[in-house]
Amino acid sequence: MCDCGGMMTSPRSAATALEAVPSSVRVHVIGAGPVGLLLTALLQTMPGFSVRLYEKRQEYTRTRMVQLAPYLVADSVDAYRSDYIDGDTVDAVFEPAELLEGLTFRRSIPADLMALLRDWTLGFCPLNSIERAVSDLIDGRGSNGVQRTAAVVTADDAMRMLEPGDILIDCTGSTSLLRDHLTIGSGGAEEGANTLKIRLEYALVITFLYGQTYDCNEYCKYYKNAENAQYKFIPMVNRTHYDGSVSHVTGIVNISAEEYDAMPSRFDGEWLRGNVPSVAQSMDRFIDKIKEETHGEIVGDLEIVRIPLDLYRARNATSRQWLRASPRDHPFAGAPVFLAGDSAIGSPYFQSISLGFECAMYLAGLIAQRDMPLREMLERYELYSYKQWLRVYMRSKMIKHNKDLFESLDDPLALLGKLHVY
Ligand SMILES: Cc1cc2nc3c(=O)[nH]c(=O)nc-3n(C[C@H](O)[C@H](O)[C@H](O)COP(=O)(O)OP(=O)(O)OC[C@H]3O[C@@H](n4cnc5c(N)ncnc54)[C@H](O)[C@@H]3O)c2cc1C
Repeated sequence: MCDCGGMMTSPRSAATALEAVPSSVRVHVIGAGPVGLLLTALLQTMPGFSVRLYEKRQEYTRTRMVQLAPYLVADSVDAYRSDYIDGDTVDAVFEPAELLEGLTFRRSIPADLMALLRDWTLGFCPLNSIERAVSDLIDGRGSNGVQRTAAVVTADDAMRMLEPGDILIDCTGSTSLLRDHLTIGSGGAEEGANTLKIRLEYALVITFLYGQTYDCNEYCKYYKNAENAQYKFIPMVNRTHYDGSVSHVTGIVNISAEEYDAMPSRFDGEWLRGNVPSVAQSMDRFIDKIKEETHGEIVGDLEIVRIPLDLYRARNATSRQWLRASPRDHPFAGAPVFLAGDSAIGSPYFQSISLGFECAMYLAGLIAQRDMPLREMLERYELYSYKQWLRVYMRSKMIKHNKDLFESLDDPLALLGKLHVY
């Protein structure tokens, strides 16, 4: 239960909300994962805001290796759309003025935060080191204007803490606290009512360390899997990363729904060998070929998680429905709510944090425009989120399609069956 205080107050009317600009705005950020932290660090240095950041975890313990996309720190439109998978999509989806607006905001990001972002786009790093670095940065800034609360916030808490003129940003991740509360249903939040979900596949995400430099590209993915008729291990799209002593390798093996159901959520190589030997053999063949080439050894064991690879988005990433309907007794009618990060959009294939950061930057830029009418702010964030969704939807479908074709490269008939030309 949150100790966030704030009794339920009657929201001011939507019309007032559209016009008035309070002297200092309270922003509640629920969830201090990477996206909630980034948003807090961005808002912290903007005049006229006080941030309340709520987090239920005591410690940052997620050590999975992640990488951020270079477009996050792009300093020109060309650099922003240089990605080899979806550079064209950027041009197709975004107006030039929108791209320029994004660049202008990036240039205003404080140097301490920008330095961290630049670092994270260079190579892999553990997720918790990103979380700790931004968390420390927030705490270490002088008069920091951020009040942190360690608590599990409930949806009722969130509604109670909101006062007219406040802003609430839900950064609670894929099982978002408020996503289902943003649609006006027949009473109560209906689970999934505000979510569009597309299941692309079930997968094992397998990570290991290797004691030599090891680079992978599409040829490597093919030849090292040549004897794996099924269960091809496909290292992540952004290759592998050598940190000076070990290579960090993360990749995906596609599994069936039945196999997924029969596995624990997290396990190691020993469990894999004992329980799913066919996948283990494919992994071992792949790793043996790396060793043949580079004469190194695996450091430690395999770390494996099984996950459904889902693409999803909140149909409403803001409280716009409540603002429009303006019921007198609902807090969301008088104070805007935004979803950011995995709360709003989720995508597989190692790209979500970058997407979340991108939307967080845009949202911070909107909130900074204190004289912008609330309705416009919500609609602009909805449109931007939708465009980012289109981008990640097309990108993920492309990656999935390429993976499907890749898995049938040695079987021309199966390959042709997956190709639809016109
Ligand atoms: C195996 C695996 C590998 C991945 N690899 C990559 C990768 O390489 N690159 C990449 O970009 N992405 C990767 N991802 C995805 C990435 O981890 C997520 O996109 C990212 O963590 C989302 O950040 P977030 O801040 O939106 O949400 P989260 O990281 O989920 O953070 C949400 C925060 O809110 C807190 N919270 C939740 N509910 C409440 C509540 N009621 N009250 C208070 N606090 C609450 C949580 O404790 C948490 O700290 C991977 C995911 C998985 C599962």
